[in-house]
Amino acid sequence: MTTKSAAAAARATVYGYPRQGPDRELKKAIEGYWKGRVTAGALRATAAGLRRANWLQLTGAGIDEVPTGDFSYYDHVLDTTVMVGAIPDRHRAAVAADPLDGYFAMARGTQDVAPLEMTKWFDTNYHYLVPELGPDTVFAADSAKQVAELKEAIALGLTARPVLVGPVTYLLLAKPAPGAPAGFEPLTLLDRLLPVYAEVLADLRAAGAEWAQLDEPALVQDRTPAERHAAGRAYRDLGALTDRPKLLVASYFDRLGEALPVLAKAPVEGLALDFTEAAAAQLDALAAVGGLPRKRLVAGVVNGRNIWVNDLAKSLATLGTLLGLADRVDVAASCSLLHVPLDTAAERDIEPQILRWLAFARQKTAEIVTLAKGLARGTGSISAELAANRADLASRAGSPITRDPAVRARAAAVTGDDARRSQPYAGRTAAQRAHLRLPPLPTTTIGSFPQTGELRTARADLRQGRIDPAGYEERIRAEIQEVISFQEQTGLDVLVHGEAERNDMVQYFAERLTGYLTTQHGWVQSYGTRYVRPPILAGDISRPEPMTVRWTAYAQSLTDRPVKGMLTGPVTMLAWSFVRDDQPRGDTARQVALALRDEVNDLEAAGTSVIQVDEPALRETLPLRTADRPGYLAWATGAFRLTTGGVRPDTQIHTHMCYAEFGDIVQAIDDLDADVISLEAARSHMQVARELAAHGYPREAGPGVYDIHSPRVPSAEEAAELLRTGLKAIPAERLWVNPDCGLKTRGWPETRASLENLVTAARTVRGEL
Ligand code: GLN
Ligand code: ZN
Repeated sequence: MTTKSAAAAARATVYGYPRQGPDRELKKAIEGYWKGRVTAGALRATAAGLRRANWLQLTGAGIDEVPTGDFSYYDHVLDTTVMVGAIPDRHRAAVAADPLDGYFAMARGTQDVAPLEMTKWFDTNYHYLVPELGPDTVFAADSAKQVAELKEAIALGLTARPVLVGPVTYLLLAKPAPGAPAGFEPLTLLDRLLPVYAEVLADLRAAGAEWAQLDEPALVQDRTPAERHAAGRAYRDLGALTDRPKLLVASYFDRLGEALPVLAKAPVEGLALDFTEAAAAQLDALAAVGGLPRKRLVAGVVNGRNIWVNDLAKSLATLGTLLGLADRVDVAASCSLLHVPLDTAAERDIEPQILRWLAFARQKTAEIVTLAKGLARGTGSISAELAANRADLASRAGSPITRDPAVRARAAAVTGDDARRSQPYAGRTAAQRAHLRLPPLPTTTIGSFPQTGELRTARADLRQGRIDPAGYEERIRAEIQEVISFQEQTGLDVLVHGEAERNDMVQYFAERLTGYLTTQHGWVQSYGTRYVRPPILAGDISRPEPMTVRWTAYAQSLTDRPVKGMLTGPVTMLAWSFVRDDQPRGDTARQVALALRDEVNDLEAAGTSVIQVDEPALRETLPLRTADRPGYLAWATGAFRLTTGGVRPDTQIHTHMCYAEFGDIVQAIDDLDADVISLEAARSHMQVARELAAHGYPREAGPGVYDIHSPRVPSAEEAAELLRTGLKAIPAERLWVNPDCGLKTRGWPETRASLENLVTAARTVRGEL
């Protein structure tokens, strides 16, 4: 091996591409199919057209090897479930009757059959469908989709590499099927699963694949020795197959750590590693195992999950270091480009100068191609690109958007006291009781009320100039009036204004903070046909004027009961945005926290006695490796406390999170120093209440008694029963009564009935105290 030949061979590739199409054609076709407006044939044709357009775009841009099999009608983990034949029993008949409808039934459920559970794909905002496996699971290879898509690309004359979820990650992402014995571990099915992968790999080779990629991102997480051993065994067995393509085992989202030596030793032909997250540690580890002298190394140097332009010179330096460490070095994004929007060129509202700081999937593709060229032919061959890149990076670094001296001075002056309430929790409760005079088991909601068609129309009318801001304000006020009078009539104790003015709990604030960008077309797949447009934390963050006070104060003017102010917390603002990459996340969180702190203080000054700061994302951005968690939780909880630390002792701070599993962050939740927390609990029969109690959580809590994820109306008796269950874990003085989450996705009829029952339940149980 010589460095020179490794360089000369450098090629450009990606692991996956946004699926939806420039105009979200895929979403429209699939939703049309669900509604019966689009035939299966038309849906397939749309999908094939999009795959073809993507591949041609990639090769047209200079990508040498395109991915196949990354396309999906819903989710690539669900596709893998189909590929290995692990269809849950309850879906077998539907899949046999019509594979496409059966596939969507697994994804979305039907009237009678529950879907697979959905959960987050590592620490991204993409959701996958969780495989359900048990001791009776029988795998059977179904390579049809992988083979067909490979053949489509080959028919276009392209060099294509099928991309599959690897067997170890597939099993590690699975959960025990209903009825599996307690403690069943899907990974024990590895020996049964490997022959299925062997069959699929043989089919892919027969169809013309020179290489196949097996994605094993689960190996970047903390793994037990047994799990690492299983990975070693899997790749020893797959490597030993004779009838197979060359194997590229891909990892991303973090460093491989202790799994690196395992894969380096495995008899596979290539490894793909992430050199954006923890690049230095990854490089050291690679050197420590003596490199990959007989392997192809695909270097993920272009960040596949943020939207910032690459520092090409820095990436070239990394690639140069890697040249000495492998037989051949190729260039890629760190992970599938699924996690970024398609094309910055579609953005018309972002200043051209700022747009040049950003790279979406198309721009990242170009960066990868440039880097591969620079690596193969020397930097002289890309001098124009390097010069333009230097100018863009300099423009970003020197811009007043990036660095606002006032924001920096303020953040630098923050002291520990700013992030501390003037009295500890125990000392505040009496002041709050006296101030608020609430009954025991007080009732409240999580914030949003139904986002009706009229509200969406009002926003569209405002955007398109059919009404003026005053007309819009009028409509929102009318909605607030209705929401307040409904809550008063129903007898809720702590009211909300209903969030009628918010399109989205992050975007609403992003649009009002300086330093944040929002996009028009920056859609990213969240799950299935749901796409979101994460805003971009582009520069130093400040708040030119109050963002919510007007609405909350108006709502308060209509009632004598306390109206709860409603804000999105700093951690969630970061988690659901693209975050700047030129400073630690904690610094960005602190700036957001200071802006929100001003809002909290303004709400208090306007007469708001209860303020809720939502942090549903606190747990989902928990780092993949446990060793990285304390650092994250320190800045995350610190940002929350900085947001809320400036209020009087008798002002009550609430927070809200929407998940039922959080045993591992109870301490962090306590560290938020909020007075009241509301959580999702209805479906798990108040499990969270028991978990909080088990950890000695000392504060007030509202485990949800109304599951807002379905239109079903809980009866008063059912809600009362949940409350009685909650009372076994949390004493009456500290128990609140509320739904699981906001009501924005619900209709009015079920919202009305459910909240009436919730109040009845609270009254009934109060009578039993
Ligand atoms: N206050 C928000 C609402 O009610 C909270 C949403 C959330 O937790 N995701 O809609
Ligand atoms: Zn929620």
